[in-house]
Amino acid sequence: MSIVDLTVHELVEKLEKKELTITEINKAYAERIKEKEPEVGAFISDLSEDALEEAKKIEEKVSNGEIKNENHLAGIPIAIKDNMCVKGTRTTCASKMLENFVAPYDATVIEKLKAENLTFLGKVNMDEFAMGASTEYSALQKTKNPWNLNCVPGGSSGGSAAVVASKMAPWALGSDTGGSIRQPASFCGIVGLKPTYGLVSRYGLVAFASSLDQIGPMTRDVRDNAMLLNLIVGHDEHDSTSIKTEKKDYTKALVNDVKGLKIGLPKEYFGEGINEEVKASIDKVIEKYKELGAEVEECSLDIAEYALATYYIIACAEASSNLGRFDGIRYGYRTKNFKTLKDIYRNSRTEGFGDEVKRRIILGTYVLSSGYYDAYYKKAQQVRTLVRQEFNKAFEKYDLILTPTSPTTAFEIGTKSNNPLEMYLADICTVSINIAGVPAISVPCGTSSKGLPIGFQLIGKHFDEETIYRAAYTYEQNTDFKGLEG
Ligand code: GLN
Repeated sequence: MSIVDLTVHELVEKLEKKELTITEINKAYAERIKEKEPEVGAFISDLSEDALEEAKKIEEKVSNGEIKNENHLAGIPIAIKDNMCVKGTRTTCASKMLENFVAPYDATVIEKLKAENLTFLGKVNMDEFAMGASTEYSALQKTKNPWNLNCVPGGSSGGSAAVVASKMAPWALGSDTGGSIRQPASFCGIVGLKPTYGLVSRYGLVAFASSLDQIGPMTRDVRDNAMLLNLIVGHDEHDSTSIKTEKKDYTKALVNDVKGLKIGLPKEYFGEGINEEVKASIDKVIEKYKELGAEVEECSLDIAEYALATYYIIACAEASSNLGRFDGIRYGYRTKNFKTLKDIYRNSRTEGFGDEVKRRIILGTYVLSSGYYDAYYKKAQQVRTLVRQEFNKAFEKYDLILTPTSPTTAFEIGTKSNNPLEMYLADICTVSINIAGVPAISVPCGTSSKGLPIGFQLIGKHFDEETIYRAAYTYEQNTDFKGLEG
């Protein structure tokens, strides 16, 4: 077994016992990236050589006591989705608009990781401005699914999922507005959590839809996921939507026991459009939970069928407003082709944004325009309230809700990128969770006959990540899904 095969908690154990050094770990990852990146194409900025230099310094400081390192996380490497600001590095959002933008400050999550002395392997690919479900809408490069190079890694955090699955990083941060952590996690056979809205600061995350965006951990297993969440949560005065909560240690929730836990299965998520193999795999998960003593029963979330439409109205409305700042003057790419001020605005945006981003800006501007506002945006906000209420009602009865993460396994590159509606349907199981603001995780539960990973989703109450982790961990401990070998 080589260093890159180990989970972070295994690395930590070995560092503690002095069976490994910080430099060895970072060196192993720099070498792995050299070997695998040419086929996967996940890094927009490969910083692994810098990480190795940094690792040597950290190792020195740990040995002379300058860094206390009680939790042995100093020098553990991580990869970051390229929509989070890391001071002094490019933060492109996989867009021509920000291709040369160098972040002048650290996002709050990055500051927190730096406080623990993690090293940064690089910034990874995504759909442009996080709009998409396959990472094909990146304006900069293509990323492939390491399980099958003809398939997409999912999206929009496809780069984060691909580097964790292909062992080019032990863990990564992604962001999730409508499924962008969970769906790629499920396509790549890893664990991905979208935390409760407000649990993790969004300061320094380039905004897509501010009332839905959340940063979260993408990892090889559930324990690593809880460990990474521990590092990034917390109130931040720079983000007025971040919540003041008591500090928790999420790893304490990792107990191998689901006896008496009540799990609801909303029938709307198991119907038409869900691939048979995915369904069969989720059925096995349900049987497993029953066998382990959970009480599982069918329930209904009948507002769910409106969630996708609601999501695309709200997300596009917010995006059209958030992306207004990229005009070639205040922020972003500036056209060379102009005579008047108006030319600068028009041509910078025309040349700087890709088709999908433009589609959303147009849609969002439309639903917010006077005359259409009441019919679309206001209606969507009203439905949003109903979705929240329906989740709250379900949670009076159940501790968790279980669904597939995605209706299909990873699809082939090129099969949906010209059909936006089909691409939007890839999120049918995940978007309602962001609308309600509740937390949810995707956990791998098997592979299809074509050898592609399948994931299931566990949804919890607001700020009850612990119950999600407990159930996810119990499943993991009692089954034997293996990540990608080799
Ligand atoms: N695929 C969804 C979209 O395109 C979700 C994106 C996300 O979560 N960032 O909007």
